[in-house]
Amino acid sequence: MFENKDNATTPISALGEFGLIDHLTKHFKIQHTTTVKGIGDDAAVIAAEKNTQLVVTTDMLVEGVHFDLSYMPLKHLGYKAVMVNLSDVYAMNATAKQITVSVAISNRFPVEAMEELYAGIQTAAELYKIDVIGGDTTSSTSGLIISVTALGEAEAKKITYRSGAKENDLLVVTGDLGAAYLGLQVLEREKEVFKVNPNAQPDLEKYSYLVERQLKPEARRDIPGLLAELEVQPTAMIDISDGLSSEIIHICKSSMVGCNLYEDKIPLDPQVISTCEEFNMDSTTIALSGGEDYELLFTVATEDFPKIKGNPHLSVIGHITKENEGMHLITRANTKIELIARGWNALEDEADG
Ligand code: ADP
Ligand code: MG
Repeated sequence: MFENKDNATTPISALGEFGLIDHLTKHFKIQHTTTVKGIGDDAAVIAAEKNTQLVVTTDMLVEGVHFDLSYMPLKHLGYKAVMVNLSDVYAMNATAKQITVSVAISNRFPVEAMEELYAGIQTAAELYKIDVIGGDTTSSTSGLIISVTALGEAEAKKITYRSGAKENDLLVVTGDLGAAYLGLQVLEREKEVFKVNPNAQPDLEKYSYLVERQLKPEARRDIPGLLAELEVQPTAMIDISDGLSSEIIHICKSSMVGCNLYEDKIPLDPQVISTCEEFNMDSTTIALSGGEDYELLFTVATEDFPKIKGNPHLSVIGHITKENEGMHLITRANTKIELIARGWNALEDEADG
């Protein structure tokens, strides 16, 4: 969504590629001493510190595939593109330090639209203390594509892989699940209402948390620090981008273990529960298969239970078993169901009939 209030139409050609890059990035400040050289040369330069390892991750967002500009404001898109990458860095139990941002833009977007996109990127960079150190700018014949690469660092012994979960470890999740997927359902529904009646005033108040989780996700920057403070080294970790079920399966397969996940332990926001009732959806299915929550899922040794017990950010939702016991959901009715990986794509197919 680009609300062109002033009828701004400065074509990108008026600035040229280099002028545009300079225009969009001149306000970015460098915050880390390890960023030796940011934007402005053939490559950025980062100082390597002793005993630390670097982590690198990239995610690309494509218009029409990952976002719909009819309800996604460009500022939020810029913010979200940064969040999805930072989330992957935090999922390695690392600190995010730098990003590069590459965009492919069609001539449908004026300079002012790019300013909005970069305002969101800048807000994210400031709030999450990230240096924007480079990128690439090119043209596209159709939609908008944005690709962000994030760099982070951590002491080698703290870096947490998907593969370290051991039998009897506890399965822990941060925050609550399912809200971002429901937010998308609410927005899609409003878009259909708007098509029929453009004067309809959407009342999104009772869905505010859900819509915010979809449009303005926050990566869990606080968690690596919290774990260090609690003196807990997770044995395995992953971020929840596709839904709890698929992420648990990733950890179990990488670690060659099984698990029991308890339905009644899955953390849900009250708005998720009430909206599921209203939409006649099953909240457990939404938490298991709805995507884009950007919470973290990790495993810890049972000895660490006293350190995490009762922490408002953390919920123990199950435990790790032997690989040959399989991966299961234990329902409220105490029946055992095999976990299957169904991302939100599968949910969509179901909803479409
Ligand atoms: P090159 O021709 O060496 O690829 P560019 O002209 O593409 O260089 O980029 C010049 C500088 O601007 C580089 O430091 C590059 O990383 C940075 N840059 C280019 N596009 C972007 C962008 N969209 N966002 C942030 N930095 C960018
Ligand atoms: Mg280039």
